[in-house]
Amino acid sequence: MQIKKNDNVIVTSGKEKGKRGRVIAVYPSANRLLVEKLNMIKRHTRPNQQLRQGGIVEKESPISAANVRLICSKCDKPTTVSRQDQGGDSRVRVCKNCNETLD
Ligand SMILES: [Zn+2]
Repeated sequence: MQIKKNDNVIVTSGKEKGKRGRVIAVYPSANRLLVEKLNMIKRHTRPNQQLRQGGIVEKESPISAANVRLICSKCDKPTTVSRQDQGGDSRVRVCKNCNETLD
């Protein structure tokens, strides 16, 4: 997956299409990610020790990585990145729009 935590992404399909947000978690094995304030779902909860009142809690639900595109932090455009070997174990992401290194 090209996208990492704290990246900004734009949603390209589904009900949140066109919205941007910051990635707060990635699940590479499921190819899904959580984006702050996007794809919110309502959870009805009973009162418990953490949440004395219970009621409705809104939280993010994961979005398929196929439905978002990375926004380059340098040129601020939706982009794809290439991986570039820096020698040894280190690889960096490079924006295909502006050729800037993103990591
Ligand atoms: Zn760029």
